[in-house]
Amino acid sequence: MKKSPMKLESSQTISGVDFENYFQPGSLKEALEIKAEYGRDITIAAGTTDLFVAYYERLHTIKNWLDLSKIDELKYIKFSEKNVKIGAMTTHLALKESEELKGKFPVLQAAAADVGSPQIRSRGTIGGNIATSSPSGDLLTPLLSYQARFKLETAGKSRWAAAEEFFTGPKQNIMGPKEILTEIEVPLPKNDSSGYWIKIGRRKALVISTLNFSLVLEFNKEKISRAGLAMGSAAPTPVRLKKIEEMLVGKSLDELDHRKLGEEVKKQIAPIDDVRGTKEYREDVAFETMINALEDIESRRG
Ligand SMILES: Cc1cc2nc3c(=O)[nH]c(=O)nc-3n(C[C@H](O)[C@H](O)[C@H](O)COP(=O)(O)OP(=O)(O)OC[C@H]3O[C@@H](n4cnc5c(N)ncnc54)[C@H](O)[C@@H]3O)c2cc1C
Repeated sequence: MKKSPMKLESSQTISGVDFENYFQPGSLKEALEIKAEYGRDITIAAGTTDLFVAYYERLHTIKNWLDLSKIDELKYIKFSEKNVKIGAMTTHLALKESEELKGKFPVLQAAAADVGSPQIRSRGTIGGNIATSSPSGDLLTPLLSYQARFKLETAGKSRWAAAEEFFTGPKQNIMGPKEILTEIEVPLPKNDSSGYWIKIGRRKALVISTLNFSLVLEFNKEKISRAGLAMGSAAPTPVRLKKIEEMLVGKSLDELDHRKLGEEVKKQIAPIDDVRGTKEYREDVAFETMINALEDIESRRG
């Protein structure tokens, strides 16, 4: 058995299942060293809301645990002149309640408020949502719309990945076996910006999105100077719809043909049939949602 000074006694069990090592480091440095030592043979546990569901029947297959819950240096929301930096262990509840996010990133905050239930929001983390990389993950579309980037660290090194390059397939991403996602950085939108978020589901609370949608528009006088549009549960990964963004930039809201943009959204997504909705249903909802989003932003801007 490999040795490490941060290992807890392994006489405990998880749900009655034995494991070899349970590490609960108090610093990121220690966590990175353990991850470097074990690579793929260790499982990161953040809030465990995804992990325990996904592995409920197979907990015995996890031999080595790396619990990040005691690493306070990964729990923060820090603003600078240019961006906001969010620690990977920040919970949905902290995002939902942040006064500063309210004014500057309303779409991200609205998405965090729509995740699960109060219990899930108080345990589930932004890092876990990203690392799970579900096509329906609710924070992922706002992060794409706001052009976030993610810091992936290994012992001694780090790299940044743009949100749109991170997701490679359903529940798949570019993270390497020795990497930990440590920080999310989101550039500040200009003061004159408007956003729209909606999560479509079969009921109001505690539901996986049948579709989620996030639009952020920045304005220079009346013209759209930047557009960020992303959808979840509309393709194998959450997707940024760049072609539509290009159709929006340079126009004022009253120059936009809402139905044409809605039709284009339908063409740009690749949804599947599943228990939550058919491909055709999702395409129709995407069409209507694009129109509603533009109408809503237009009415709020007068
Ligand atoms: C009842 C219920 C309702 C839910 N509702 C929603 C919802 O409405 N919307 C939604 O988007 N999600 C929902 N979820 C899913 C889940 O709560 C979120 O995705 C949550 O953000 C996961 O975070 P976590 O900290 O619990 O991750 P964990 O379960 O601890 O980890 C998830 C995965 O990410 C890996 N991981 C975690 N942190 C890191 C890191 N820093 N670096 C590298 N890898 C890491 C873990 O190894 C694991 O593979 C729900 C889950 C449940 C059980």
